[in-house]
Amino acid sequence: MTRILFSGGMVFDGTGAAPSSADVLVDEGLIMEVGSGLDADEVVDCAGTTVLPGLIDSHVHVLFSGVNLLRMMQTPFSYPFYEAVHNLRTTLDTGITNVRDASGADLGVAQALRDGLIAGPRVQISISMVSQTGGHGDGWQPCGSVMPLLTSHPGRPSTIVDGPDSMRRVVRELVRAGADVIKVATSGGVLSPRDDPRHGHFRDAEIAVLVEEATAAGLFVMAHAQATDGIKVAIRNGVRSIEHGIYLDDQAIDMMLAAGTWLVPTLSAPRAVISMADAGVPMPAAVITKARMVLEEHDDSVGRAIAAGVKIAMGTDSGVGPHGDNLSELGLMADLGMTAAKAWQASTASAAELLGIKEEFGTLEPGKRADVVILEGSASDLVDLRGRVRAVYQDGILVAGAASPAQEPPAVPMWAH
Ligand SMILES: [Zn+2]
Repeated sequence: MTRILFSGGMVFDGTGAAPSSADVLVDEGLIMEVGSGLDADEVVDCAGTTVLPGLIDSHVHVLFSGVNLLRMMQTPFSYPFYEAVHNLRTTLDTGITNVRDASGADLGVAQALRDGLIAGPRVQISISMVSQTGGHGDGWQPCGSVMPLLTSHPGRPSTIVDGPDSMRRVVRELVRAGADVIKVATSGGVLSPRDDPRHGHFRDAEIAVLVEEATAAGLFVMAHAQATDGIKVAIRNGVRSIEHGIYLDDQAIDMMLAAGTWLVPTLSAPRAVISMADAGVPMPAAVITKARMVLEEHDDSVGRAIAAGVKIAMGTDSGVGPHGDNLSELGLMADLGMTAAKAWQASTASAAELLGIKEEFGTLEPGKRADVVILEGSASDLVDLRGRVRAVYQDGILVAGAASPAQEPPAVPMWAH
């Protein structure tokens, strides 16, 4: 394999050090050295750019392409799997080389990526979100029919459960189906028409069993947790990350700090629902009302969490909103008081730590796998990030964009369009 030198850029290495002018040497798909006076077979001129570690989105839904219920009802069962191929490619093009899928993707999607059958970020799958009756994942509609966002199938078990015993069984079913992480809804949400984001779901005994079973299988737990009570039940029982975290009170923030619980804000999510509603996408009135209701409280909670020093990893809920806009989340976090450097940290080293992959990803340090993003301009400028991603590498291989502006992009197989 060719030795590649990313030369003359500002290197943001993800370690917390300030960006500095340096070269990055890659060999055999690994970072060999970051420094100066290095040489290689192939030199990529990075003047005027920032060289970043591959970015990580901790909350996506690659099988969702918007949440138009009417469209979903008219979409053939297997069609979203083909859409996922496109969504994964779009996500990779924006510099995201690892994602955590927060429900939808099953083992077939993960295996197709792992075998190189399709291009995209590496994925951790949660398959299906564990939810109580009437909870965020329950597709029961007021008309009496059941229309979940995700139909269960042999590779994606139904995960609506009540009580510790069924909880234990369903986690084991998810482990059997290939889950890399267990996702649970400990509160209502925005997209589910019949629940309330301010209500906590599941009781301590149920979440304790869920975490116990996940831990026994070596898996972390992520909780869709919007209500204050739902956030606290998750933290108390050892859930690793709070997703959304809309109604964080001071006690919840203190509990997160004490337990080392992560927050994945997904500030993009309610905004995506509101902009879809504004664009005329048909959705239940309750959903639109809830999206508008939570927006301000959500921003306020996340702003306070940032100020208090809660551990934060970047996540967008892409799939609810469009794929490929993932990097707008950095600007949204910055608007709530996060420095640009911390926003990049949340999208690299911190997210790698949350996902348990920090030994291999998240920083540009010798020995790490060579996921590299070349961004035009300075990392302190968070405007139009998507349009500034010049090239993306996974394991030292160019997978999106072009090494230099003058070069043609790599030939992309037909399936990737
Ligand atoms: Zn989500």
